[in-house]
Amino acid sequence: MRRVKIGKTVQLDELARECGRLYSQTVVSFWRTVRKKGIWLKPSHLMRWHTSDKLHAHTADACVQAFFASLKSWRARRKTDPDAHPPRRRRSYFRIEYKSTAMRHKDGKLILSNGKAHAPLVLEWPWETPKTVVIHWTGEQYEALATYQVQAQAHPLGEKVAGIDLGEIHAAVSHDGTETHILNGRFLRSKRQYQNKLKAKLSSMIDTKKRGSRRRKKLVRSKQKQLKKLKTQVKDIEHKQTTQLISTLHQAGVQTVVIGDVRAIRHDLDVGSKNNQKLHQWSHGNIRHMLTYKAQRYGMDVALQEEAYSSRTCPKCGHRRKSKVQGRVFRCTNKRCGWTWHRDGVGAYNIRQKYRGEFGIPHVVADMAPATGIRFAPHTRVARSQGEKVSAWVTVQKPLRL
Ligand SMILES: [Zn+2]
Repeated sequence: MRRVKIGKTVQLDELARECGRLYSQTVVSFWRTVRKKGIWLKPSHLMRWHTSDKLHAHTADACVQAFFASLKSWRARRKTDPDAHPPRRRRSYFRIEYKSTAMRHKDGKLILSNGKAHAPLVLEWPWETPKTVVIHWTGEQYEALATYQVQAQAHPLGEKVAGIDLGEIHAAVSHDGTETHILNGRFLRSKRQYQNKLKAKLSSMIDTKKRGSRRRKKLVRSKQKQLKKLKTQVKDIEHKQTTQLISTLHQAGVQTVVIGDVRAIRHDLDVGSKNNQKLHQWSHGNIRHMLTYKAQRYGMDVALQEEAYSSRTCPKCGHRRKSKVQGRVFRCTNKRCGWTWHRDGVGAYNIRQKYRGEFGIPHVVADMAPATGIRFAPHTRVARSQGEKVSAWVTVQKPLRL
């Protein structure tokens, strides 16, 4: 994968608008046919129905296929997420996708065809010819995402099982038998707290303005814009964290990922208004979905595991605490044991044990490796010199903070 910023030109705008038009036509025709005739059309029907003479035929097809791709992901997602909704929104602009059939590579330039009647898009390309190029809008300018043939599985898959505990303070904690990885959720949480504060502040400002006034409209627009930005940031962090965790597990040879099923918590629990807000914004559905499809992309199996008492049971002696664990430290209440460890690590450990049918049985866990924190550090990109490939990720080997 290669990302190249390509600025903003009239040609790019027109192409993106044309793709938006095709995508929107697809959305409208598809749902209209469902509504009026009760027929769910296939991609091939709509690709024949909606075409464009301003785009390469395969680029036009890609717009239709994009709609069906999101339809498919909605179908998969609604099984576990009741809030999932199908793609219905029209788009004024949409990403432009070029398949290899529309590409020519000549003298360090990549020539992307837009059909016979229209000028091709030409990009400076001192690199290899990619398999596909997708051009999308980043908010400031267009960006070309080039994908290359995916390398064959670099790591042989093992029989390893990893348990994942989704939490509110730590977005996810995994344990794969030897190592524990923690996705630190504090940064995400601070974003969400700020989001709530901002929402309240802007809403109260809007309330002081007269209904229908220009000032009010302006404020409403500003509120939407600011909140949208935060939402994007939160999503970005979630994506980066989950990608990092799954690729770490993949590298460790994990074959099966077992995720603790926390779906019941959000629905039945009433813990006071402040904590309720926290719980409702806890996006474990999102995180679980991301972890699931990213793991599947590596060919891993994903299972959901009922997780009753997984945070209360001592991994070492199998004793179950009567009371909830207070604070971030698990302390075994069995007087002869007294084992202590990171609370969320215990959850992940026990979820794994449950899946393997070894839950609640004494184990030798004295030499458990210290947990690895996966923390999001967004500003590390900026400080580095140009050309140096830096990930926004800092993985820290650290002793558990107890
Ligand atoms: Zn114990």
